[in-house]
Amino acid sequence: MQENAGVLTILSSPIGNDLDLSPRARKEIEEADLVAAEDTRRFWDLCRREKIKPRGRVVSYYDQVEKEKAGKIVEAVLRGEKAVLISDAGTPVINDPGYVVVNEALEKGARVTSCPGPCAAVCALVLSGFRADRFCYEGFIARKEGERRKEFKRLKDEERTSIFYESAKRLEESLKEMEEELGPDRRICIARELTKEHEQILRTTLGEAKNLKGMIGEIALVVEGRPERNGEAGDFVQEAEQRALKGERLKDAVKEIARRESVSTHELYRLVLEKREK
Ligand code: SAM
Repeated sequence: MQENAGVLTILSSPIGNDLDLSPRARKEIEEADLVAAEDTRRFWDLCRREKIKPRGRVVSYYDQVEKEKAGKIVEAVLRGEKAVLISDAGTPVINDPGYVVVNEALEKGARVTSCPGPCAAVCALVLSGFRADRFCYEGFIARKEGERRKEFKRLKDEERTSIFYESAKRLEESLKEMEEELGPDRRICIARELTKEHEQILRTTLGEAKNLKGMIGEIALVVEGRPERNGEAGDFVQEAEQRALKGERLKDAVKEIARRESVSTHELYRLVLEKREK
């Protein structure tokens, strides 16, 4: 770490409500020698609305130019300048530009700090009502169906709450596929237009979410982790057999029990057949 070096501040900005811009964020922007903004027009709009007067130079820093511009920003910091990185909304780096410049700064020994604040994923998580002691942030849902299905299949055994970003346009399709992979009972929360006038938090299940049509706006989707297993597949062999004896199709009984108890359908079926053979 260099003595008296400047600093790169990763600064979070509002995701819909300008009042969420912190007093410290305002001060950092005004005192910065250099502001690297994802979209300079949006940055100046925010400054105008919030009467912020940056005294330093403002440059654009978006995904396509990260590699090219990161070096210059880090050089400025190493010269002793205060640089601020801001994205269009929320926390830079989180599905927003920033990863490259943070790493370059760290590699070259420049100081990096944060001015924390809004992040849609965290807002959605805490409003979902699902467990938040451990969680996975998954970013945007994949656009290709094969990749998407793979992501959803992984959630079958994921015990932690997962958070996704998704466009309103693709939400219906994603929820339909998610239901096919995880079943209708998995609980989800759709957090729409967070912190804005028309904020909407829908806590529902994948089965019920089918009926949602024509959602618009910005969306973060929270998926509850796999329900705790109530036992092992072997604990339910007797129940499956009894239901089959009463006339229910064995396959249907096994499927229903497995879903209810969050145990493996395949394993329960195998154990019932194994017992019959004995
Ligand atoms: N870095 C940002 C953050 O910290 O939240 C995320 C940037 S990512 C490019 C933009 C996505 O975040 C949107 O497409 C949407 O899925 C989600 N998002 C952003 N603002 C939101 C809001 N007000 N309500 C719900 N989701 C939001």
